[in-house]
Amino acid sequence: MALLTIRKDEDPILRKVSRPVEKFDEKLSQLAQDMIDTMLSNEGVGLAGVQVGKLWRIITYDQHNEEGSFVMINPVIKQASGSCKDYEACLSVTETYGLVERPSEITVAYQDLDGNHQELTADENLSRILCHEIDHLDGVLFIDKMIPEPDEDEDPEEPIAEEA
Ligand SMILES: [Zn+2]
Repeated sequence: MALLTIRKDEDPILRKVSRPVEKFDEKLSQLAQDMIDTMLSNEGVGLAGVQVGKLWRIITYDQHNEEGSFVMINPVIKQASGSCKDYEACLSVTETYGLVERPSEITVAYQDLDGNHQELTADENLSRILCHEIDHLDGVLFIDKMIPEPDEDEDPEEPIAEEA
């Protein structure tokens, strides 16, 4: 198991656009496994290649349920509908969380580790995680999309934001 260093805050690599993956080889599988280990050891729900210094279009996610961890290569959002506001945080952005509006349902086309083309329709929390990670592949951070907080008395509780 290899834990990778998570790039943070002002690291300029976080603003770069990642390249499509073309070779589906052992190196890619190893990176995916290392990313999953790194994500889980930091209690994250998602991670993009760029966050560990690899400018490849690869993301991992894990909702911490019985389904386990997943990898998507070259993910593209094919369809998006609805909208939903919720709090987000990021393993690459320290001590910040905020409200972000995301589609409530998306369909993502991607490739698996063997290069096979797949499609997944996701809603609610998973839709949010995938949008957040796919944004990373284009150098976009959730802080770019943060919207103002609702009135204090509407929601007095400390929000819970998962890091991705
Ligand atoms: Zn993030």
